[in-house]
Amino acid sequence: MERVTIIGSGPAAWTSAIYTARAQLEPVVYEGAMTAENQALGTLPMGQLALTTEVENFPGFPIGDLEAYLDNAIAKDRRMMMPPHAKAGVSGPELVELMRQQAVNFGTRILSEDIVDVDFNTKPYKLFTSGGTALETQSVIIATGARANYMGLESENRFKNRGVSACAVCDGGLPRFRNKPLAVIGGGDSAVEEADYLTKFSPMVYLVHRRNELRASKIMVKRAMEHERINIIWNRVLAEVLGNDADGVTGMTLKSTIGEPDIQVAVAGVFLGIGHTPNTAFLKGKIDLQPNGYIVRPVPFRTNTSVPGVFAAGDVADDYYRQAISAAGTGCMAGLDAERYLASLE
Ligand code: NAP
Repeated sequence: MERVTIIGSGPAAWTSAIYTARAQLEPVVYEGAMTAENQALGTLPMGQLALTTEVENFPGFPIGDLEAYLDNAIAKDRRMMMPPHAKAGVSGPELVELMRQQAVNFGTRILSEDIVDVDFNTKPYKLFTSGGTALETQSVIIATGARANYMGLESENRFKNRGVSACAVCDGGLPRFRNKPLAVIGGGDSAVEEADYLTKFSPMVYLVHRRNELRASKIMVKRAMEHERINIIWNRVLAEVLGNDADGVTGMTLKSTIGEPDIQVAVAGVFLGIGHTPNTAFLKGKIDLQPNGYIVRPVPFRTNTSVPGVFAAGDVADDYYRQAISAAGTGCMAGLDAERYLASLE
């Protein structure tokens, strides 16, 4: 029987693994499976960080050449599979691989399978894997993250990391976007916040919304409407991302939702701000979820869930901050919460 089982493989999962491994709890991590289904859904192992390029805002990774450090930390064959090293800070895939390595160094065991079902009605808890096996565990840390929603266009997929992004805060400052017109798709708080953020770098940000009224909170709406560098395009949806192999994104085609002709707009970046979906399908009916699918953490500043001994860390319980560093922070908290829970059993 396991003492701690961690589900997920982003910053929250690896941080909780580092903490529980150092506490001699011998954690096992189910990092997810490399399947076509997970690829299509955006839920491949190593989470959302693995889908980004440079990371400049994770403390501890200042601008500098980290080649030698990375060569030491990551086996050559794994490194060869990664995109070229970013000179500024660290890249998302490198950062999450370094976290994984750090967890391995303390004795974490890793299985490349998904957890597809859980039984929290009996103790020890039972988890069922995509490989068809079942395991028993005294405690669980759920860190399965969330995935950004995309429109599902082929062209959108083609230009991911080359002008299409779902995170302005992560990618907006990259050189390819500087001083160029950009677009944000969506009308909620995230979309307005992303548009506002992008005005730091861009002379014109188009906010494309499918209706004629924003969903965002009043103060955010005011900010968008009054901002001289935000131009709201009403009643339109993204129909196609335009671009080429050399330049990446060069524009977009927008379809009208009220029967007007399509238009094309020149932009160097298209940012999706149409919400996120937490990876909690396997937890439905097993644990308390919010109406939007995120895990409920009933005690403020704790990672407890509605089930004793089951903790939630990272984006799977966070529809608000969604940063690698905040996920890592709650991963640490979940590791400590699990340790204290196990001590209380003894
Ligand atoms: P959201 O509130 O669900 O908004 C999603 C937006 O995307 C909506 O405007 C929606 O249009 C649009 N949308 C969804 N699917 C679409 C599609 N297929 N095509 C075109 N447009 C589509 O999500 P969010 O903005 O990520 O916010 C999530 C939560 O976090 C909210 O509670 C929000 O208040 C909170 N949040 C707060 C802040 C802040 O206070 N600073 C910042 C970020 C997020 P419709 O409006 O037509 O449905």
